[in-house]
Amino acid sequence: MPADTRNRAPWLLMYHSVSDCPDDPYGITVSPSRLERQLRWLRDRGLTGVSAGRLLRARAAGRDAGLVGLTFDDGYADFLTAAVPLLRRYGCTATAFVLPGRLGGDNAWDELGPRKALLDADGIREAAAAGMEIGSHGLVHTDLTGADDTTLERETAHSRALLGELTGAAPAGFCYPYGTLDHRAVQAVRAAGYRYACGIDPGALTGVHALPRAHVGARDTSVRLYLKKVLHPLRRRPLPAASAPAEAARPDGVRR
Ligand SMILES: [Zn+2]
Repeated sequence: MPADTRNRAPWLLMYHSVSDCPDDPYGITVSPSRLERQLRWLRDRGLTGVSAGRLLRARAAGRDAGLVGLTFDDGYADFLTAAVPLLRRYGCTATAFVLPGRLGGDNAWDELGPRKALLDADGIREAAAAGMEIGSHGLVHTDLTGADDTTLERETAHSRALLGELTGAAPAGFCYPYGTLDHRAVQAVRAAGYRYACGIDPGALTGVHALPRAHVGARDTSVRLYLKKVLHPLRRRPLPAASAPAEAARPDGVRR
């Protein structure tokens, strides 16, 4: 297999909230019926949605054909009530990147709202018990670019320890709030023991601790999903070979 295919960025989709709420200034909400059509579209093409952790393990073993990574950022309560039942119906799993510093709180960081409830401790445990992977989105949804050492440690290592206590297993995955990252943030995530981390468009920092993802929104019909699938490996850099040192470079993450 040619190197460019083997190292091609895995296809990871990024969701946030699953709700019929029409007020959506940040484009982070898909309706349950839209999510169901997207899951059906994947199934009809022989694709199965799995957690990011499972996708990466399968990829390492060369067995990721037909798998698509599904990720849900922020840990909205509607992940459990709206997304999980659909995921289970379609035989899929997913990763929920949650905020252990805002258990049972809301998305106070999105100034324009609308306020959306976040999972509490029981909800996170329930999602894990339903077969979903739980990852960390940091402690309280802080932009890590330019953050001081104390903040980096708190958002990466401390959030991992809290989730380990909460679920009984330290999470393997991290997701950068807003998808923004720099070299120090990547180093902190790696030092905290995460095996992988998701961004959006990490550019020159792309690697297993800075994975690109494709945003999925309310307007993503089958045709648009198909285009995103085709374009993903063209738009995103391949992952560096495992032995290559991480490149130090300016991030070019998209704010979301
Ligand atoms: Zn977020």
